[in-house]
Amino acid sequence: MHELGIVFHIIRTVEDACRDNAILRVSSVTLQLGEVSGVVPHYLEDAWRWASNKNPLVAGSELKIEEIPAVTYCEDCKKTYETVAHGKTCPHCGSSRTYLVQGQEVMVKEIETPDEQLSRDDVDKEYVDGVSPLGQGAMREAPLDPVDAANPLIIE
Ligand SMILES: [Zn+2]
Repeated sequence: MHELGIVFHIIRTVEDACRDNAILRVSSVTLQLGEVSGVVPHYLEDAWRWASNKNPLVAGSELKIEEIPAVTYCEDCKKTYETVAHGKTCPHCGSSRTYLVQGQEVMVKEIETPDEQLSRDDVDKEYVDGVSPLGQGAMREAPLDPVDAANPLIIE
């Protein structure tokens, strides 16, 4: 169950952001989760409930999940389409010269405290799984296997 590893990484990201901003309590964490990230929201919520209660900073806080739809771009007709519905073949022109532009995100977007909100800039745009959806994604010929995309996580 790699969701638990992801939760520990999210908590570390939140700890870092809170240390930088002198925040002692967190009421909710908003996570952007790509449609093809390979992470199951239900498992992630279960893992969050278990792991967050062991850490005073985030104990009792809510994990809000914001799903990012998967979108693929076609190099031949320059159009985009829904990845899940059509896979690697462009529904507009039939080309397979396509690549994923978004949908693999596992990223902390926002942290709420009982008194104030941290914007995404404060969180330092850290990608939890180390995959930049636009930067590195654009260099790939095809989407990575979603499970492999989460494997670079290093759990200390
Ligand atoms: Zn096309």
